Order: sequence, then structure tokens, then C-alpha cells
Amino acid sequence: MERTVRIQAPLPHIKSVNIWLLRGDPLTLIDTGPRTDEALVALEAGLEREGLRLEDIELVIPTHHHLDHSGLIATIVGRSGARVAALDRAAEYGARYLERSAADRSFSLELLRHHGVPESVIEANEGFWDFIRDTSEAYETDVVLSDGDVITAGGRDLRILARPGHSTTDALLVDDASATAFVGDHLLAGISSNAEIVPAAEPTGSRPQARIEYLGNLRRTASMPLDQLLTGHGDPVTDHRGLVRRRIGEHRRRCQRILTALEEGPANAYEIAGHLWSPRTVAEQPVLVVWEVLGHLDLLLDETRVSEHKFDDGSRYGKAWFSLPERNARGDDTGAPSLGVRATSTLYSGVDRSAESE
Ligand SMILES: [Zn+2]
Repeated sequence: MERTVRIQAPLPHIKSVNIWLLRGDPLTLIDTGPRTDEALVALEAGLEREGLRLEDIELVIPTHHHLDHSGLIATIVGRSGARVAALDRAAEYGARYLERSAADRSFSLELLRHHGVPESVIEANEGFWDFIRDTSEAYETDVVLSDGDVITAGGRDLRILARPGHSTTDALLVDDASATAFVGDHLLAGISSNAEIVPAAEPTGSRPQARIEYLGNLRRTASMPLDQLLTGHGDPVTDHRGLVRRRIGEHRRRCQRILTALEEGPANAYEIAGHLWSPRTVAEQPVLVVWEVLGHLDLLLDETRVSEHKFDDGSRYGKAWFSLPERNARGDDTGAPSLGVRATSTLYSGVDRSAESE
């Protein structure tokens, strides 16, 4: 009998989420689907096909805190008494889910305003956050794992590796013996993973440069000797090195498109999004497109190819040379459009690169 079984639960917008059943001791689920009746029905039907019931589950491990991966944890635990094991940061998020997701939501509102998204668009998309609130639930973690820890699940040893970027809580669960890893949304066959921009996990921290962190972690994963990556959505990945190369190429091209858009002059992140996606996409998915643009701007800021101009009503971005005083033949400043510009490497980290521009 198959030791690892994929159960797919329905999920709006991207069709389905994978729940991985690990047959063996202890009987384990990796990820759960969202907290919806449809997902629960699909999970129970999938277990029934294996001659199992929800009550039989002994261990649940989320790959990260997102609702489609953790939403049913509390339900499963309530029915089965299963233990929950999670990476420390996913455990922390789960324990304060409502509070943390509400903080993500209010941070996001300010982020969208700061980056030029009209109030009407913000209001029309409140449903995005309502959906997260309504399909998630707090969960308690019995076994809090640290990066590098090993846990026995479904008759095999899984090594947990922190790989934040797509979310702040991402983990890989690596079965070294079979060169297989459960990777959640860290790398997906069919779509380029997003990298969410959320408040720092701790009050003292600065906003993580999620996209930069993501690509760094993706490269670490590419260097691992894996035959198969079992993902959170869609089919398994069997050529992870090739796929990571493709994803990195896509990032380069998108950065280039942003630079091309900025040839027309400085723009805010939402205006840049309008150069990259259809009017319908930017109006219907403002959170995702702003995350996407800011992530790529972080890459360009990091290479000092773009600068950020902070005004009272928000940030605008320009090609790096907008921030550099140009010198004429006599060596005088021409007063070329500096706009009181400060080139900062990221939005809120306070890293000020203006010294490098002079
Ligand atoms: Zn996710």
C-alpha cells in the first residue's frame, strides 16, 4: 500500500490544496485544507478511500500557517485527539491566530494606502481578509520544533527546515532516506509562489524583505539532493533545480519590466502594477500585486538600480539615476531631478543608502 497519499481539498481561486497522508506510525497528515465544510468532506472521503477515519489521525504537521494549510487543524484535533507538531514560528502564529491575522490585515491596509492603492479598491477587496478570518482557526502545538529538528511521522524521520519567504512560517519536511520533501508553497510546479509582506514577527524587528529572503531560501533548497518535492498545490516537482532556475529567470524578467515602466518617470507601486497586469487583475487583487511589485522593487533597491522617494502621501520609485545629482562638464551639480530623494534599501527597515549616492 502507498505510504504517502495525496488528498485534494477544494479551495476557491486556485482549485485545490494538497493534504498529505503519511501511512505508518504515527498516522500523520501534513497540511489540512481550509476550515470549510467542503474541505472537511473531501478530507474524510480521501481517508475513507484508504480505509481510515478522521478519528484515526495521530499527528498533524502544517507546512506553514496559511489558512489552506492549517484551517482544519483544530477540527481534526477535536475529533481525533491528534498531536500537532509545527516549526516554532508556525506554532506561535497558530496560538494567536486571530490576533496575528488581524495585525497582518491592518498592516496591509496601511501598506496599500502608502503605495497608491485607491480607497475604493481597498474597500472592494476587504473580502480577501474576511475569507482568511472565516476559513482559519487558532491551533495549539504540542511539539514545537526548531530549525533542523527531526520528528517521526508516518513511519519515517522528517527533518524540519525553516524556509521563510512565501510566508514567515514556511518549513520543509525532509525525508532524507527517500530524498523526498514536503514543501508547502515554498516551490510550486504550476505557479510562482508569492512572498507576503506582513508586520515583523517581533516588535523590535523590521519588515522582512520577504522576496529577497525567499529567493535566498529557494537557492538553498535547489542545492539539496532531492528526487521529489511534494507541494501544497498541484503536482509534485521532480526537477527542483531546473524549476528554481526558471523561477529566478522569471524574477529577472519582471525586474526588467519594472525598470522599463520606470523609464516613463517615477511611479508608485500600484501604478507599476498597472504596467505589469491587466486593469482587472490590479483592481481585484491589489494585495497580491502590491506584494509582488514591492518584492521585486526590493531586489532592484538591493542592487541600487532603483531608488525610493518618500513623500507625505506615500512612496514613489524611480530609476536609480533619478536620485543621483548629475555633474556637468565643469563638475557642478546640474540640479537634475533629485526630488529630495533618499535611496533606501527597503521600505521600513531604515537602511539609508543616501550616503552611497553622493
Ligand atoms: Zn501559503
